Amino acid sequence: MNLELARGTRISSRMRPIVALGAIPAMMHWRTAAALAQDGQLQGIATTGQVGDLIRIIGADYVDIRALMGPGVDPHLFRASEQDVIDLIDSDIIFYSGLFLEGNLGEVLEQAENRIPVTAVSAGVPEDELIQPEDDAFYGNPDPHFWFDPTLWSFAADEAARALSEIDGDHADAYVANAESYKAQLIELDEYAVAQFSRIPEQSRVLVTAHDAFGYLGRRYGLDVVGLQGISTATEAGVRDVQSIADLLVANEVRAIFVETSVPERTIESVQVAASDRGWEVAIGGSLYSDAMGDEGTDEGTYLGMMRYDIDTIVASLIGGEAE
Ligand code: ZN
Repeated sequence: MNLELARGTRISSRMRPIVALGAIPAMMHWRTAAALAQDGQLQGIATTGQVGDLIRIIGADYVDIRALMGPGVDPHLFRASEQDVIDLIDSDIIFYSGLFLEGNLGEVLEQAENRIPVTAVSAGVPEDELIQPEDDAFYGNPDPHFWFDPTLWSFAADEAARALSEIDGDHADAYVANAESYKAQLIELDEYAVAQFSRIPEQSRVLVTAHDAFGYLGRRYGLDVVGLQGISTATEAGVRDVQSIADLLVANEVRAIFVETSVPERTIESVQVAASDRGWEVAIGGSLYSDAMGDEGTDEGTYLGMMRYDIDTIVASLIGGEAE
């Protein structure tokens, strides 16, 4: 590979607007397997925290991964900075969640794909497992929040191992083994969730959140899920009727509704006020991790940790006691 050419391209791309990325000649990248072996580690970029965590686990010693979106960042609205674009095209491999979760990154990812492997971890999920929203708020696309069903996230682990093995066949056995042991942890998480959610009285299994991120969680564990906004925070048209949600809370004596770390709180507070107008006091049951995870270095900064946090928070709030 011609390093000088690569450097020259990188410098010039810094001065171009993002849309000009496609104008960069596609001749340089695609490092060979030999070059990768010399480097030691693959340099990877992930979009969301969840995807970054997954690749950190499956890639382990052989992949240096960085997630573009930190705590509190909403992937539906995220736009790549010029530095992000430079980092993307300088990497060896890119992973994203997919199903249009990263709605504004489509063009950037498409252009990067001409030069380096770009993998949507959702590509591993069988199509008939995906939720097709009843309304057309997301333009006929499936619900992208599939990580909320751990049994579907395990397909993403397989997809990550497959993509890494393809670019770095020398360590394929390690990637597959890492995926297998992680999938065992996902089964444990699933069993934990089943046990915890079963503690909520059936009538109260209603989860009201700021946006429709929890459809897969609801389907897997038997909760009715109502999001004030649709499955993308970018669609204003998806804003549902605050009054009818308040009616539902009163009718089912639901004790708590939830905010999300990546969505402004005011959307859900309006529901609390509407319920109160009907004489039913509903608590804000806590802040759930939905599309973003917690701080790096904390339990909630990992997928397994954020899921347990959400499960415990939902269960404790809806039964009005402590999770066990
Ligand atoms: Zn979302």
